[in-house]
Amino acid sequence: MIQTQGGTWQRRFGDSMMRSLSTPKVMLDRGEGCQVWDVDGKRYLDFLAGIAVNALGHAHPVLVQALTEQASKLIHVSNYFATAPQVELAERLTRISGAGERGRVYFGNSGAEANEAAVKLARLNRGDGSRTRILALQNSFHGRTMGSLALTGKPALREPFEPMMPGVEHIDTTIEALEAALDDTVAALFVEPIKGEAGVVDLPDGYLERARELTTRHGALLILDEIQTGIGRTGSWFAFQQHDLVPDAITVAKGIAGGVPIGALITFGDASDLFEAGQHGSTFGGNPLATAAANAVLGEIEASQLVLNAIVRGDQLRAAVEAIGSPLVGEIRGAGLLIGLGLTQPVAARIAADALEAGLIVNAPNDSSIRLAPPLIVGDDEIAEFTQIMTTVLKGLE
Ligand code: PLP
Repeated sequence: MIQTQGGTWQRRFGDSMMRSLSTPKVMLDRGEGCQVWDVDGKRYLDFLAGIAVNALGHAHPVLVQALTEQASKLIHVSNYFATAPQVELAERLTRISGAGERGRVYFGNSGAEANEAAVKLARLNRGDGSRTRILALQNSFHGRTMGSLALTGKPALREPFEPMMPGVEHIDTTIEALEAALDDTVAALFVEPIKGEAGVVDLPDGYLERARELTTRHGALLILDEIQTGIGRTGSWFAFQQHDLVPDAITVAKGIAGGVPIGALITFGDASDLFEAGQHGSTFGGNPLATAAANAVLGEIEASQLVLNAIVRGDQLRAAVEAIGSPLVGEIRGAGLLIGLGLTQPVAARIAADALEAGLIVNAPNDSSIRLAPPLIVGDDEIAEFTQIMTTVLKGLE
């Protein structure tokens, strides 16, 4: 049994878990909808959803039923065999992404793995051999494995693990920097449509459209990391769909199976022809349990119109934060239900800690940003409770 008196579980966590993770403040036990309870029975309103993962909230009956049914049939078979949930999910993803009949899907188990596959896709776009450069943005986040870390534009995360995979250059997030860097030696440009880990930071107006023009002109792949922005979170299935462009590939993970580990690379058009049999794979990738979960989550998002809910509730949440009128909130960034509060003082950690104490989970990705990413099922009651707690927390710090 987990003893909570005297912080016993914290000591056990600290003694047994790899030091790459710091010890959390709370040990969670169960959840339902937008709420979770800790091992001491305290309830929290969850406005982080496992960092934009629990699209249907916690213990959603549709997901629980799909997992239970699939687990009683087949959990895993290896890539020597196909399963119906896997093929169904690939077809569903090519449909909702707009990749259509020329689209193809590779399944891995996380966002980082989806980006690893995308890095290999970029390497296959060699042209006559001279396309050796990969461009990514400063202050971007693409994951912690060595390929995805090489893409990540945060030197502090990369430096302890250098030397990095060669060929990646991090450019400023300006159209001028893009124009200066893109030429015929670039194999791919990686971009997050909204930089989530940077604090939910929007791209400059027209950035993605210009990126599409230039990558097309120079034969480089435009690869969009939709790991945080995808699966309805920003008010469309994928954030790029709010722009007038078609990418060569997108990477997806987080919300796709509501918390069951899965990641995917989706290719469009000619990029779908780059991989050949045997060039990439993963033991667990696309297993029937994870893909059945994803089919259930995506099916429920469609049936309950949760992409629309992300727009409506996102607007409602922004209006609620504006109405609080706190001088600590300088700007509201993001789209749909991926919202960043830009703070006028570096008090994000304090806000997140005070909110947690008051029973609200929000996240501080850096000193001066609060990230809100509630489940896509969020409704009036949850927004009212969020507003009440956030008002108290912000007023307490003004
Ligand atoms: N890309 C983006 C935009 C992310 O936000 C994340 C995770 O936060 C990743 C990639 C890495 O995903 P994972 O943690 O599943 O490896």
